Amino acid sequence: MRILLIEDDHLVGDGIQLGLTKQGFTVDWVQDVESAQSALKTDQFDVIVLDIGLPRVSGLEFLKKLRAADNKIPVLLLTAKSSVEDRIQGLDSGADDYLPKPFALGEVAARLRALQRRSQGRAVATLKWRDLTVFPDSQKVMLKEAEIDVRGKELRLLLFLMEHPHNIYSREELESSLYGWNEGIESNSVEVHVHSLRKKLGKEIIKTVRGSGYQLGEE
Ligand code: CA
Repeated sequence: MRILLIEDDHLVGDGIQLGLTKQGFTVDWVQDVESAQSALKTDQFDVIVLDIGLPRVSGLEFLKKLRAADNKIPVLLLTAKSSVEDRIQGLDSGADDYLPKPFALGEVAARLRALQRRSQGRAVATLKWRDLTVFPDSQKVMLKEAEIDVRGKELRLLLFLMEHPHNIYSREELESSLYGWNEGIESNSVEVHVHSLRKKLGKEIIKTVRGSGYQLGEE
């Protein structure tokens, strides 16, 4: 899952980026609304994590504009602990959920997964494909009864394809779902991970669509 984090506080931003990356998210972090707007023009994100107090343009103004432009991307708002007013305004401006500061990273991660689930119309937390079950919260991958060792970028790729089962993705699109802006892209990495996943989970797991890219295999 690729996250756009908009937060001007270095300590908070750094903590969220590090913590979520460890939990298998790809996090791109910007510190103001202007940078967020250009990021949204060039890249695809699954969820936005939005601070309210930002320099020049506030998070709420940004959110209102986003919704006015009919952008439906799920937004998790970070609000000050005691401000009920912020939360009300935030939800009324089009936020899907909010989290008062300070928060536990585990809760941010859980809420992001819930938001993505909801936006995809899924009710359950686990992802299933044939005999394969993936638990995004514990990052466990089970093939029938056996736990399979899938981690790091390989796990991110598997999660991404299972989260968007009907879409076809080009190599470039998969690369950008696996790597944030600050992570150097290793060449051939998508091919390498696809190869490895097929070896571990069966070659049907990922379909190569000639001339277009990759897709989760047929059910
Ligand atoms: Ca702030």
